[in-house]
Amino acid sequence: MELIDGNQIAATLIAELKAEVAKLTGRPPCIALVRVGEDPASVSYVTKKQKMCAEIGIESRLIFPPVTISQDELFALVDQLNADPSVDGILVQSPLPKPLSEIAVFRRIAAHKDVDGFHTLNLGKLAQEDDTGFIACTPAGIMELLQRSGVSLTGKHVVVLGRSLIVGKPAALLALQRKPWANATVTICHSQTANLASITRLADVLIAAIGKPEFVTADMVKPGAVIIDVGVNRVPDATKKTGYRLTGDVHFPTVAPLCSKITPVPGGVGPMTVALLMKNTVKARRQHSAAAAYN
Ligand code: NAP
Repeated sequence: MELIDGNQIAATLIAELKAEVAKLTGRPPCIALVRVGEDPASVSYVTKKQKMCAEIGIESRLIFPPVTISQDELFALVDQLNADPSVDGILVQSPLPKPLSEIAVFRRIAAHKDVDGFHTLNLGKLAQEDDTGFIACTPAGIMELLQRSGVSLTGKHVVVLGRSLIVGKPAALLALQRKPWANATVTICHSQTANLASITRLADVLIAAIGKPEFVTADMVKPGAVIIDVGVNRVPDATKKTGYRLTGDVHFPTVAPLCSKITPVPGGVGPMTVALLMKNTVKARRQHSAAAAYN
């Protein structure tokens, strides 16, 4: 069994982006990081993104509206950033506090600044295999991890556990693309799938993104499979100072010995997600002059 080291692969990608940004003429890329309220996980995610921007040479503009902001006020803020020519990318950190509609905000962001890849147009471009679009960072990060670990999906059976718009669906579409490293046969499973284990056992590559701690057990995995564990779950652990530990959607101790490659949690998919946000921001900066034609 080989561990797919997301920290190391992300570090390589970050170094590449840093070199690319250093070569850009004119102003550096700029991303607006919008965080509504003080949700501790969101505070931590935005801080991580801000730090990585600084490391690469990307300008980050931090905007922290209060939790009381209305939908219309948030729209107005997004409109302002959409119209600002010095901003290349806009990220509105999810989850948004209730009653704000996340999907409505994602759609409000100009598609050519949608570095999170959640806009309808960008999901459509993914389905059409139009590479000018932005792909959601976690699934794009999964593909980078696989490619950079020498795992070709061509002709393989990829089983994706989970059908969210953020991970499952775009991951499945990426694996399906007519690209040299993709070309997989793809099955998507979800909470209503019958005989789940009989399907996961057919997977050459299993991508688990369901948010259920240690759900995938050894009896659900084909020996020699590649396992990508997207899950990030907090489970109570009295031995930790925080009172919890992070675990994936895969029961690592029993599954790891069976498979050919596996991502750990933490240190697998997680670091790639932030790195791919940076990659999308640099891409937005490069495409900026053509933004008017983005459709
Ligand atoms: P989500 O929106 O809650 O979607 C979960 C999906 O899993 C749904 O499609 C759901 O099916 C399916 N599911 C739930 N229980 C299931 C079961 N028992 N059997 C089969 N399918 C089941 O979650 P998400 O946003 O995709 O995130 C998934 C996990 O990835 C979470 O742990 C999240 O924290 C993690 N994540 C990590 C990163 C990272 O950077 N590492 C980024 C994003 C997410 P239905 O559609 O039928 O409800």
